[in-house]
Amino acid sequence: MDAIIKLAYLVSAILFIFGMKRLQSPATARGGNQLAAIGMLVAVVATLVSKSILTPAQMLAGLVIGGAIGAYMARKVQMTGMPEMVAAFNGFGGIASAVVAGAEIAKLIQNTGTASGEEFYLYTAVTIALSVLIGMVTFTGSFVAFGKLSGKISGNPMHFPGMRLLTILLAVVSIGGLVWMTMGATNYPFEAYTTQALTIEFTEPMIYGAIAVGIAAFILGILLVIPIGGADMPVVVSLLNSYSGLAAAATGFVLNNTSLIVSGALVGASGLILTKIMCDAMNRSLLNVLIGGFGGDSQIESTGLSLEGKSISETSPEDTAILLSYAEKVIFVPGYGMAVAQAQHAVRELGEELQKRGVTVKYAVHPVAGRMPGHMNVLLAEANVPYDELFEMDEINGEFDTCDVSVIIGANDVVNPAARHDKASPIYGMPILNVDHSKTTIVLKRSMRPGYAGIENELFYNSNNRMLFGDAKDSITKVVNEVKAL
Ligand code: NDP
Repeated sequence: MDAIIKLAYLVSAILFIFGMKRLQSPATARGGNQLAAIGMLVAVVATLVSKSILTPAQMLAGLVIGGAIGAYMARKVQMTGMPEMVAAFNGFGGIASAVVAGAEIAKLIQNTGTASGEEFYLYTAVTIALSVLIGMVTFTGSFVAFGKLSGKISGNPMHFPGMRLLTILLAVVSIGGLVWMTMGATNYPFEAYTTQALTIEFTEPMIYGAIAVGIAAFILGILLVIPIGGADMPVVVSLLNSYSGLAAAATGFVLNNTSLIVSGALVGASGLILTKIMCDAMNRSLLNVLIGGFGGDSQIESTGLSLEGKSISETSPEDTAILLSYAEKVIFVPGYGMAVAQAQHAVRELGEELQKRGVTVKYAVHPVAGRMPGHMNVLLAEANVPYDELFEMDEINGEFDTCDVSVIIGANDVVNPAARHDKASPIYGMPILNVDHSKTTIVLKRSMRPGYAGIENELFYNSNNRMLFGDAKDSITKVVNEVKAL
């Protein structure tokens, strides 16, 4: 039986790895997700069977109820609500790790009856403390991120006097509690620390150490996320995702569960890599994200840019249809507004209509367009836009020079030329899509309101730019009808 369980864990770990590998391309991502889900099912069943925790009927009931809740949430969630759902899941992952660690402490108390005297491994003490620490920070941090993303709490950075000091103090208490948990081992020679089998005596003060870690980490999670602006929440969610993986891996050591260690490590590492990719795409360091307080609900940043005296030119669906129909090459540039308007299907239809007329159509995807990594890829894939028409920023940026019309659908910051030259701009240095190199640009949005960075966009005032105001889906649908009627 033991061998079968170990094999099941190995199989689940392999499925996680292959599942993740397949997430690299939109074409294989769905299959990758399914592989990882099967891996998780194998791991859950193996754990339940090996620990004889539940009867088969209870297991089935749990799977059905849990599966139904998951399926309902996945169906119900709007694409734009995805980051906050991920944030909530991270939070649950974090609290699960902390609770499992707490249960291990309860087990130790129960075994001794006196809350002390039980011998246990030093590494178990360390990993219990780490599970509580990282799990709790992830829990509260993720729910603050959830609140900010869903608009339940203000997206503006929040500060209060003495906040930094309190944060440092809580970090010290957390680390202190962690060290306290291992105090029983201080009399051992150094070499003993290098062996996994080193045991320490479970003492009552250790419980207080764990409680101190838990409470300090609970508040720490809140304090670490409230000063971060709403615009940076997806980066924070990605980082917290990585934390939830680390907490799970620590819990895997507590429980001696290989599958949990492997999956936790995978989540931890991939979350960190994703965080780095996102920071690079915004040309900002992680430290700058964590302390920068960038973007909120209402602020409009002042930049060195002066647009006074400049005016914008409007266009209509009819004129846009004519312009597009007679173009040789059109590049669609989707952004957050396309997600809000759910315009992706209409955009694909427009693309197909233009292709029928011999126009070359391409889609340019900026790595941080939208509100979560891969946001645009997911939407365009959902609308069945062929993958070979989708191009990453680096692949397509050179092509704008030969592009007749760039159609910017609810994108703003990712096409703002200020990022290239305006040193006063908060997005200065962020690589952007060079849409302004096209012969003509058409921007679809509802108003002159700024995007998430809260700044003006000089592209809108260029002489070769036309604004097509309105909800992106409505506008594109009208353009499609006009193209068809031509
Ligand atoms: P922006 O947030 O810059 O702009 C979106 C635009 O969409 C707005 O100007 C808005 O204008 C318009 N819009 C909203 N709703 C509609 C609608 N129904 N129809 C038409 N237009 C609409 O989006 P981008 O995608 O260009 O940039 C993403 C921003 O988010 C960047 O600043 C990026 O750094 C940030 N970010 C992204 C992350 C990611 O993972 N993708 C992570 C962290 C940050 P109006 O209100 O006038 O309609």
